[in-house]
Amino acid sequence: MKLNYAKDLINFIDESPSQFHAVNNAEKRLLENGFTKLDKAEKWKLEKGGKYFISNNSSSFVAFEIGSGDITKEGFRIIGSHTDSPTFKVKSNPEILVENTYVKLNTEMYGGAIANTWFDRELSLAGRVSIKGDDPLKPIEKLVNIDKDLLIIPNLCIHMNRDVNEKLSINNQTDTLPLLTMINDELEKDDLLINILADELNVKKADILDFELYIYNRKKGSLVGLNQEFISIGKLDNLAMVHASLTSIFESGKSVATKVIVANDNEEVGSMTKQGANSPMLKNLLERIIIAMGLDREDFHRTLSNSFLISADMAHAVHPNYKDKHDPSNRPLINAGPIIKVAAKQSYVTDAMTAGAFKSICKEANVPYQTFFNRSDMRGGSTIGPITTQQLDIPSLDVGNPTLAMHSCRELAGVDDHFYMIECFKKYFDYK
Ligand code: ZN
Repeated sequence: MKLNYAKDLINFIDESPSQFHAVNNAEKRLLENGFTKLDKAEKWKLEKGGKYFISNNSSSFVAFEIGSGDITKEGFRIIGSHTDSPTFKVKSNPEILVENTYVKLNTEMYGGAIANTWFDRELSLAGRVSIKGDDPLKPIEKLVNIDKDLLIIPNLCIHMNRDVNEKLSINNQTDTLPLLTMINDELEKDDLLINILADELNVKKADILDFELYIYNRKKGSLVGLNQEFISIGKLDNLAMVHASLTSIFESGKSVATKVIVANDNEEVGSMTKQGANSPMLKNLLERIIIAMGLDREDFHRTLSNSFLISADMAHAVHPNYKDKHDPSNRPLINAGPIIKVAAKQSYVTDAMTAGAFKSICKEANVPYQTFFNRSDMRGGSTIGPITTQQLDIPSLDVGNPTLAMHSCRELAGVDDHFYMIECFKKYFDYK
């Protein structure tokens, strides 16, 4: 079972080279598991036991299964995660000619990527393209994944960079632009990328209006270690939690409470978008569920008062080569269970009551748990937890699985932990 979940996670991530592809794959899985896609422009009529989902911007989604109990008393049991991961995004007019032959692409960093992990790897492009349609306000959206080793960012040789191992400094405008090809005639440069897209999508070049393309690592994920105990792949932050929440909503039993999973986009750049956690997307959807069941706005607020949110995002394990970077008395390890994240400054939303609830669920699910605090002299990161609770004032906590090399284009997590988190989420959804 543990290996199956790990391999399924690897497949899910390999098939999701951008957040648009991740949502597309999630939608396929939701449909296969009996969920119905709702049209946001229609009037909804929802029923107890019904399973539904919506997507926003094709890069975020909310799926839910209405519980059998009185929804105002049993509430929403929510798991939140995010679909985006740090990478590089291609700018418009990206072709840059060097020495009249090399063509490289102009990019900017998306989120806080560890830039040097992207050097000397086979890379390609994935994302979406907007294509001219009948209604100028509604261009046609097409997902694209150039399925070949298309790009590479070569390192500077050590002979011209002697102190690279002592002090590595990387400039995102000059040092990380990927090499696409070599040309003979300067004119070939013009619209090179648009031509590639037109070919790939089988559309007229003139109909391509715009694109959102991200660079991704071509190497497939793998299990690593003497006992295959590690999962090595990019985007574990946070497609591992998207996958765990999907798997648990599918595999948990019927519940009295209404199960909700939300996967937001743009967490890595601050969540301030309509498809991000700092938008009314989730709150509006929850209210629509209540109204579509024939209840009113007061019932919505009564339901919220009985609801709970787990914000699930990957966490940091103690690194074997950098063990002093961690808090001295909270020492989470790979394959030792989900991590509850706590911070006095509330960059994580966990409090004693919600941590207590999560520990009880772990115990019922026979899953070990750990705690993470930043060293008191380090700033640390944040999650969708504090952002979501600005929109929804319900009891919440931040959890995540132990990870090494977070924001590298190749992150490392544990096979056992992925199984533990799914078991824990399943118990959360159907403990009564
Ligand atoms: Zn994350």
